[in-house]
Order: sequence, then structure tokens, then C-alpha cells
Amino acid sequence: STAKPTNFIHQIIEADIENQTHQGKVVTRFPPEPNGYLHIGHAKSICLNFGTAEKYNGVCNLRFDDTNPEKESQEYIDSIVSDIEWLGYTWNGDIRYTSLYFDQLYAWAVHLIKEGKAYVCDLSPEQAREYRGNFSEPGKNSPYRDRSVEENLALFERMKNGEFAEGACALRAKIDMSAPNMNLRDPMIYRILHVPHHQTGDKWCIYPIYDFAHGQSDAIEEITHSLCTLEFEDHRPLYDWFIENLPVPATPKQYEFSRLELNYTVTSKRKLKQLVDNGTVSSWNDPRMPTISGLRRRGYTPNSIRNFCDMIGVTRSNAVVDVGMLEAAIRDDLDKTAPRAMCVTRPLKVTLTNMDEGHEEWFELPAHPKDESLGVRRVGLTRNLLIEQEDFIEVKPVAKNKHERWKRLALGDAVRLRGAYVITCNEVVKDSHGEIIELLCTYDPDTKGENPVGYKPNGVIHWVSDELSVPCEVRLYDRLFTEANPDGDKEVEFTEHLNSESLVVLPNARAEAGLRGAAVESRYQFERMGYFCVDPDSTSEQLVINRTVTLRDSWAK
Ligand code: ATP
Ligand code: MG
Ligand code: MG
Repeated sequence: STAKPTNFIHQIIEADIENQTHQGKVVTRFPPEPNGYLHIGHAKSICLNFGTAEKYNGVCNLRFDDTNPEKESQEYIDSIVSDIEWLGYTWNGDIRYTSLYFDQLYAWAVHLIKEGKAYVCDLSPEQAREYRGNFSEPGKNSPYRDRSVEENLALFERMKNGEFAEGACALRAKIDMSAPNMNLRDPMIYRILHVPHHQTGDKWCIYPIYDFAHGQSDAIEEITHSLCTLEFEDHRPLYDWFIENLPVPATPKQYEFSRLELNYTVTSKRKLKQLVDNGTVSSWNDPRMPTISGLRRRGYTPNSIRNFCDMIGVTRSNAVVDVGMLEAAIRDDLDKTAPRAMCVTRPLKVTLTNMDEGHEEWFELPAHPKDESLGVRRVGLTRNLLIEQEDFIEVKPVAKNKHERWKRLALGDAVRLRGAYVITCNEVVKDSHGEIIELLCTYDPDTKGENPVGYKPNGVIHWVSDELSVPCEVRLYDRLFTEANPDGDKEVEFTEHLNSESLVVLPNARAEAGLRGAAVESRYQFERMGYFCVDPDSTSEQLVINRTVTLRDSWAK
């Protein structure tokens, strides 16, 4: 489709610029929690936040939302930083951390206490839940709600000094226990966690809750448009309550957009971590993972991911996106940019009986049929060749129409070797089990760039020289799940829907000579086979090559 997808955030920003709201400035932020690797859903948020800032001459901050030290780590921070850089975005100034603001957040909590708007509550988590009520019933005031300012100040200080056990008490905002919005029923703002923090070490044993930290961090950084996903819509009144009730330096506004969900995919760090931890995949960057690092290893380009995010647009309605759209985005990009090459994935030996042993002949082929700037590649032909097993059949099937005609090699028939000669198969060699192990063929020396005289080849197939080709292991990937909505059923674990054929390894593949020493992440279109990319598991003896995507959408019917 050519219609430009909507981005309602851009419409809001254009109105704000026109009205000089926030003095016409645009400051966004991308606020990942470093508790896992980024996935394609995060890419949507990255493209939105960084892309919006770029578009309106603003800036975008990178802020680690690090208020849950138990689940966070430096490894995750490092991976997130490198994923954002790889996508090609630059953040404004230094990397920021919510934990850099812990002193200020503590001071603001004290401010709320002094204003009579926060109190230390000793209800246990279970009791607190009970007192909260539910959607149809108002909550009850905590018996600790009316503690004096002095008592609260002293208790909060003692919380900070580590005098209480986890869960013994918490600091809560004093708002309204009968508010229809549950988030306003005296929400917790600080809890005790005797856990060291990856940034602040042992300095704190109380940590702010997301809702208390997020908006205030936005205010400190003078964020103008704080973009988050729709599940935070109900938190917005609380976001605004803190901004109104604290002496913050700016008044950021929160806007919500719909999460990206892809079919045949899970996009939840927790679930993806489960796949890593239980060994379903090799790592967070396993090429089957919808993580940014997994997509990268699979062969996706930053450009394809950015184009995909543009294609899906930004709205407030939750819709599941077809993973075929993501695949189409990488196909489009690689069709334009990937050099062509030949690789035989399941080799069958071909001997050209009328070619001398030791004969070597090189053909120059364009690296790309539509882009001369990619130059030429040299492909070497010798007496011993390899072709794809499935490109040979002893007896041609009877074709009902010309579309079903056998276009490959058959016994007694001719086929063109891509870019080289026409060969004819004269004899089939079989092992003791009747398996075909070799084809004895002759080549027609008059067919280099010329049609043969007096006969017609079935079609064109790819091939490599046995001696000159490069050994490689080809890894064919398919969708990780067989169900369109793998985590949609409450009764069945999403892991029940894993595709047992999501990885097929072809250990004996051979690629044309030009791939020798190919750098990790080099991308190719292997003619007739799909788009491929060199994996970091490659060694000097053997390339490891991932299939990024097939040439055509094999799932579409
Ligand atoms: P997960 O459930 O996978 O842990 P999260 O929302 O908790 O996701 P964060 O690290 O908090 O992960 O996310 C950073 C930013 O990315 C947030 O602004 C969040 O709203 C956004 N984000 C996360 N998942 C998606 C998604 N599927 N689609 C769009 N934005 C997302
Ligand atoms: Mg989050
Ligand atoms: Mg999360």
C-alpha cells in the first residue's frame, strides 16, 4: 500500500509546535528497563522516540529506567546501548539513569510527607491489597494513614537507613482510597529492597516505584512528550498528580500508543528470557529470537527495521501485525542491496566427463542484476561440480501444462549452469542402496553466452565447483511458533506451541569462491535459495551462514 501510515503523535506535536506549548521544543526519551534484551516491540518505541525528535529538530534522551535492581544487570545495559547504536540512533548527551536521580526523588518523597501527602504504611502486601478494594468496591483507609508528619519523616528516614525488613513498611502517596482509578488509591511510592544496585551499589535499600520515578525523571530531563504504551493510560492521572504536587522544574505530558504485537512471535522480555534459560534457543541473539540482536544476527538490516516501523504507523488501537510484514521489509531492502552469489545447500556431485582434469575456467557475473555499482564477481568452473540434489530427477514428471514443466536437470536432458555452459546428463551413478551419488554429464563448449543449436535446455540451475567452492554450514530458520497467537491461551503455556523445525542445519553446503573469508554479517542473495548472512560462529575452516528469509513468502497461500 502507498497510503502513508498514521502517526497521531506527530499530529499532536505539530499542534504543540504551532501553539508554542513547551516553547515549541521537542524532547523525547527512550526509557528501557535493563532487565533483558530489546525486542522488535522496543524497536517501535525507539523509532518513535528518536525518529520524532529527528523529525522535529528536537532531541531524544536514553534513560535506563533502573528501579528494580534485582532483575537488572550491566550485561543488559550494554546490549541495549549497542542495539540502539546499531539501529543508527544517537541520544542526547550522556546516557542517563533513573538511579542518578535517587537523591532528588528521595527529597521529593520527603516533600510530599511534609505536605501531608505521603505516609509510611505498615500494612503487609496482602493486607494492602485487601484494603485497596477492587473495580466495583471502594478501598478502605489504611490504619496508618493519619500518622503525623513528624512520625512519617522519622519512619521514612529509618526505612532509608535500613532499620526495617523488606515488606515491613512502605511509603504511600495519600490520594483517595475511593478513587475509581485504582492507581490513585494511595499508591506505593517507595519500597524496601535490601538489594545492591548495579549503578548505586549499597547506597540505597529503598527504591522508588516506577510511577513515582518515571514522570519526575521526565520532569528533571525536561522531557516534553513522554511516549509510552497503552497499558500506562490508567497511570496518567497519577503521573499528572505527582507533577502537580511536586516542585518539579518542568511539566512533561504522557501520551500512550499501542504496543507492537506480531503474530507467530512473543514480545515480552520475561517470556524471551524463559526461552533462553530453558535452552529452547541458544542465546538472546539466537537468529530465531525477535530481539534486535537476534534479528541482526539473522541478517536484518537497521534500515529494514526502521522501514518496518514506518510501515506499521503509530496509533492507539491494538492490532496484531503480520510477521510477514517484517519479512517483507528485509526482503525489500536486501533485494536492492545484497550481492548475488551461488550456494549449493544439499550437494550432488556432477562430473563433466568431456572436460580435462585440472581445467579451470572463470566466468564474470554481475554482483547485482539491477545495480552495476556493486561490480562483478568471478565464478570458477572445473570438471567436478556440485548442484542441488533437488535440481535433479531421473525421470521427468509428466507435465499437465507448461507451468508444471520440469525446469531442472533430468537423465538424458540438458540444463544451463547459471552464467556458464549447458550440460547434458548422460549417466547416473548410484550407491549400493540405490541412492544417486553422482551424475556423469557433458558440457557443450558452444553454449557460453549462446543458445545451444538443435536442442533446448530445461532451465537454469545454480552450481559451484567442487574444488573452488567454500565449505559452509547453512542454517535454515523458520518461525519459532506454529500458532499465530502463541501466548493467547491462558490454559496452555506458550512453549507448547514451539515449532520443532525452526532450525534445520545443512552441514555440507558449498558457496562460490568469492565467499572465502567473507566477513561476519556479510549479506547475500543466494540465487534461487533466499537471503543469507554470515554468522559469527564462522571459523577459518568453515563459514556458518544463516538464512535470513526466503525469496518469496512461503507461508502466504
Ligand atoms: P516487556 O514486557 O517486554 O518487558 P516493557 O514495556 O516492560 O516490555 P521496557 O524496557 O520498560 O519494557 O520498555 C522500554 C520502552 O519500550 C517503553 O516505553 C515501552 O513502552 C516500550 N515498549 C516495550 N514493548 C513494546 C512493544 N511491544 N511495542 C511498543 N513499545 C514497546
Ligand atoms: Mg517497563
Ligand atoms: Mg517489563
